[in-house]
Amino acid sequence: MRDAEEHKKAMQSLQEEQKKKVKEAEHADRGLVLVHTGNGKGKSSSAFGVAARALGWGNQVAVVQFIKGTWKTGEREFFNKFPEQLHWHTMGEGFTWNTQDLDRDIAAATAAFEKAVTIMQSGDYDLVILDEINIALRYDYLDVEKVIAGVQSRDARTSVILTGRDAKPALMDMADLVSEMKEIKHPFQAGIKAKQGIDF
Ligand code: ATP
Ligand code: MG
Repeated sequence: MRDAEEHKKAMQSLQEEQKKKVKEAEHADRGLVLVHTGNGKGKSSSAFGVAARALGWGNQVAVVQFIKGTWKTGEREFFNKFPEQLHWHTMGEGFTWNTQDLDRDIAAATAAFEKAVTIMQSGDYDLVILDEINIALRYDYLDVEKVIAGVQSRDARTSVILTGRDAKPALMDMADLVSEMKEIKHPFQAGIKAKQGIDF
């Protein structure tokens, strides 16, 4: 009985604390910068989850893909149903794990980021997803300071999500939110191939 009372008291105190924090917090008067990184699954799919949320509110969304997948993906098929609200860009040839052509990869990543900056500065979008841009940074196809400056030059209305493993520390410092997906277990380790509807 005593424990139950103590528990109730502790919960009440937590609730008070939380209420106070919520009351003191302010509404953002600008778009936010989110980084999804880490070696576990969920970086891109979480970003697309946010895109679905934004679409639900009638927001305008753009996706720039820095790695061109050769696979047809479920997210692309789905978002194609919202041509007025969501604009999808896969840059040129893009780069893939197997191009092994440094100059071409740098050119593709640079063109993709130039397009991204135009989109972020346009004032036409509430949310911009730079999918796998961290990979382009990791291989030095893009310069982190230039990417930071580009993101900071965005229209005040625009939030940006940058995804991919091995996010650069300077980028994470600049972001409002950083989430690290941590691999505990992944079916690939058990020899299971990527699955339609789950992985793509
Ligand atoms: P998702 O798009 O499913 O959210 P992600 O964006 O976190 O995944 P990426 O690094 O972009 O992960 O890798 C894309 C593909 O690799 C997806 O098919 C994903 O399931 C798979 N993948 C992600 N994490 C791992 C892992 N730890 N081991 C093996 N495969 C992975
Ligand atoms: Mg991804």
